[in-house]
Amino acid sequence: MMDIDTTRVWIGYYGDGIDQRVDELNRLDAALGDGDFGASMQRGMSAVAESVVSADTDSIGDLLKMVGTTLVSAMGGTSGPLVGTLFLRMGMTLGDATEADVQSLAAAFRAGADGVIGLGQAAPGDKTMIDSLVPAVESLESAGDVPFGAAISNAAMVAEEAAQATSELAARRGRASYVGDGGLGHVDPGAVGVSILFDALDLAVNASGSDAL
Ligand code: ADP
Ligand code: MG
Repeated sequence: MMDIDTTRVWIGYYGDGIDQRVDELNRLDAALGDGDFGASMQRGMSAVAESVVSADTDSIGDLLKMVGTTLVSAMGGTSGPLVGTLFLRMGMTLGDATEADVQSLAAAFRAGADGVIGLGQAAPGDKTMIDSLVPAVESLESAGDVPFGAAISNAAMVAEEAAQATSELAARRGRASYVGDGGLGHVDPGAVGVSILFDALDLAVNASGSDAL
């Protein structure tokens, strides 16, 4: 299970992960678009670190909704509303919950992914953030009796592999679709951003010791 403290740590680690990899994310976006994805995510997560992480609530859903609205207003670009929607829908799905198990987290991530797809109209294989998000959600959904911490680690591994595999896809959405041969050979920055989110969750859950592997 995960609680509000783990959620705060997760979101904090996500911001740290974006900070550590901001140049890499900008470089990936420069090959496929305009080179602003890392800076944009960093701006959004700095705003989250300032105003959301320490917000006075014990509801996981409330905190994630605040992350979403803050990202939408601070980020801009194509990805701002999309990443914001991921968190907003997750928050709406978790509602007042003060704890989340694998199943409820999977349901929240699924609603988030559906929100991103509804807004951006990308299909699997279009070389976008959903190409790492959907496989990671599916991994959580199929976790069965796997312990919480292991289920999260598996999903993080799936997200990482799926993000790297976007180099083999030709873009059909976003700026990357205007690059010659759809950016074949280049990894999608948004897909890497999702893998950073799952890495942060893995670190928060498995380093906190609250749910042993
Ligand atoms: P831009 O600079 O074109 O406004 P960003 O740099 O903010 O866009 O975000 C780029 C990322 O957004 C891409 O790497 C991709 O993962 C994601 N993306 C772009 N279009 C879509 C879409 N329609 N659906 C889902 N994700 C998308
Ligand atoms: Mg960009």
